[in-house]
Order: sequence, then structure tokens, then C-alpha cells
Amino acid sequence: MFDFMDMDFNSSDEVTTSGPYIPAVGDCMRCGMCVAGCPTFRLFAIEEETPRRRIRTISKILVENLAISADERLHLDNCLQCRACETVCPSKMAYGQLFDQAQAQLGIKPKGLAKPALRLIENKRWRKRIMPLLALYLKSGMRKPLAKTGFLKWLGLADAEAVLKQPALQAMASRYPTRVARRGCVALFTGCIAEAFDRDTLSSAIKLLNAIGYEVLVPPDQGCCGAIQQHNGQSAAGMIDQNIAVFNTLDVDAVLHCASGCGAMLGEYQSHDIAAAGDFRQRLADINDFLLKHWPDDLQLLPLDLKIAVHEPCSQRNVLKNPQTVYALLEKIPGLNVVPLADNQVCCGAGGSYMLTHPENAVQLRGLKYRAIKEAEADSVVSSNFGCAVFLATDAAPVAHPLSLLARQLPIHGFSD
Ligand code: SF4
Ligand code: SF4
Repeated sequence: MFDFMDMDFNSSDEVTTSGPYIPAVGDCMRCGMCVAGCPTFRLFAIEEETPRRRIRTISKILVENLAISADERLHLDNCLQCRACETVCPSKMAYGQLFDQAQAQLGIKPKGLAKPALRLIENKRWRKRIMPLLALYLKSGMRKPLAKTGFLKWLGLADAEAVLKQPALQAMASRYPTRVARRGCVALFTGCIAEAFDRDTLSSAIKLLNAIGYEVLVPPDQGCCGAIQQHNGQSAAGMIDQNIAVFNTLDVDAVLHCASGCGAMLGEYQSHDIAAAGDFRQRLADINDFLLKHWPDDLQLLPLDLKIAVHEPCSQRNVLKNPQTVYALLEKIPGLNVVPLADNQVCCGAGGSYMLTHPENAVQLRGLKYRAIKEAEADSVVSSNFGCAVFLATDAAPVAHPLSLLARQLPIHGFSD
């Protein structure tokens, strides 16, 4: 058992101990420091909806080999995987990993439509076949009549359908050369559905990277990061190995991700090939960090007289731990008034697939975020995670990636699309 008295509370970043220390379920001191910040505790205000109680349930599953009750299962599954609890825990509990291990041990079988949905994310060939049909449906004027029948609600797909945008059907090029003095070459992680549904962010990323002198490679054989599978008790090993193999063969300065949710997963890749996974993680960087670090002094953006509120995704705050980079990057746009959204430490409810599996909880949390957006009185909202942006966007107020805003203010036109 971890000894509480060995901890050095004077250290600023890393808590140190006097001896070897591996956080495990038994290390939870039940101190309750994680309780107030947990979004499900904010919703339900009961002990069962706290990280502390979930750790107890996880301990039963992983350590004590005890059966858990349906009620314990329900409260465990209500977790959004936001990992806010990790950031305040004096024992540095690896809550995210423990949760994934517990879900895997429980051996969840995806039910009903969840199964084909996971296959769709995993399998590029399926996506290629289904996207044109989806695009046809979205153009067909069938959406409103179908919604009225209640059929989508019955299928549990109403929330997902409501946020769908017209997908981009054309495949991305595999190479985007820069037209300014070349400083290097990077690879872009595009993941699964972002190529179709978040093409604007990816195109903006390429324009910005080209503008600062980097050639961009988009390897076509890459795939989903595996986060949704892993957080739903499925194995992501195949996807992890595939991405490691694809990116490790490239001669690039860095592998960049644009969505913080994917970035959080990629940064924690583990594989049977420990060295290969280490090589992959070593070259991995958040695109916001990369752009800020390599921004040339002579690249001035066009001014923009707007007030922008920044939504900080949980994956960016609690896992990547770099939300400040977005503010620093947006400062490069002269005239922009950038403010954080109030309550940025609370999850918006999107939570990867959570918005689909727990729509009632997700919508309640989104309501809190809508209030914060209204109070900010901003012209627009930005978020570095695609899932959050889709979930928070309304017809009246779209939520963009900060990269889209930056790319639109580039002074030179004609960068690759
Ligand atoms: S903050 Fe950490 S140690 Fe304290 S109750 Fe929560 S999980 Fe346990
Ligand atoms: S990950 Fe988020 S929702 Fe889950 S227990 Fe921790 S704070 Fe609560």
C-alpha cells in the first residue's frame, strides 16, 4: 500500500515519493479530493457517482475478483472518462487506465447498433462504402420527416443524426508540399471519421504547417486511434499496432494530431513491441504545440475584431495538459479578444461515445456549457476536440477548431487545400 506520509507536497508538478511507486486501485486513500470536480457528482450529488466509489468498484473487479452489483455497474458506466479526478488526486491514481482495464475485464459485448458503429470507425473500407450513401441521405430532404416518425429515436440514433454534417467524400492527398522555404516534414494523424466530417480542421492544419515551412504527409493506411474501442471494453491492439507501423516507417520530424481526444489516446499507446511504441510516442506532438514552437517571427496574421471563447476539452486539460497553447496561438491574430469559458474544468458531456450511450446525462452537462457560452457573450467558440465541437455546436453558433480561425487569417492565399 502506498504510504501517504512519503509524499512530497512541496513539489510543483510531479508528486514524488521516497521509494518505488506505482499507483494502483489500492492506493486510493478515500480522501475525497476528487469528489467535487467530478461531473457526475455535480449532476447527481450522491457518493455512488464519485471517482472514490468507482475506484472501490474497480478494485472489486481487478483486485478482489468479486462480482459487482447492477447498481455498481450502472454508476461505473456513468463515468465520462474525463479524467478530472486524476488531476487532483494526491495518490496520482491512473484512473483512466484502471477504468479501461475494468471495462475490458467485464468483457462488454457491444449491443445492437453499437456493434456496426464501432466497425464503421475501425474499418476504412466500410466507411468508403457507407459515406456516399450517408451524403445522399443528408442531401435528400429526408431528415426532418424521418426525425418526426421517431424511428431514429427508437434506434437510439436521434442525437447522433442531429449533429451530422455533409461528409467530404474525396480522399485526402498523401503529400502536401510547402511553397515557402522548406524547414522540414511532418506527418498528420487524421484518424477515422475526421477526414469525412472535420475536413475543414485538417485542411487548416495543412495550410498552417505549409505556411510555416513544413511539408505534410497524410499516410492513407493510418486508422482510428482506438480510444472509443478501448474506453468501451474492446481491444484496440490491432489499431494501435497498425498506426505505429504506418507512422514509424515515415522519415518525418514529428507526427501531429489535431483532435485532443485522439492525441490523449495516441500519447498513451502501449504495444507488445515496447521499443516501437516508444519511438512512436517520442515523435508525437499536439499540432497547437508544434505550431507555437515553430511559428516564424515574420509570419503576421491578418487582424480580426472578434471576441472568442475557448472551450478546453477534458483530453486537452487533463491528459495533454496544454490548454494554454491555444490562447498563445490565438494571440497571433491581432485584435482578437480571447476569453476562457467559465467552468472549463467541467466536462461538456460529449465524452467520446458518451453522448450516444448516456444522452440524458450528456445533455444536462451540455446545458451547463450552453449557459457558460451565453454568459461569455462571445462572437464564436473554439474547441480543439472534434467530438466536443460537434456536440456543443448549434445551427446558430457553430464551434470551430482554433486552427480554422488561424488559417483564415493567413495573409498568403493559395496554400494547399
Ligand atoms: S483523490 Fe485519489 S486518493 Fe483521494 S479519494 Fe479520489 S481517487 Fe482516492
Ligand atoms: S473520469 Fe470524470 S466522470 Fe469519471 S470518475 Fe473521474 S472525474 Fe468523474
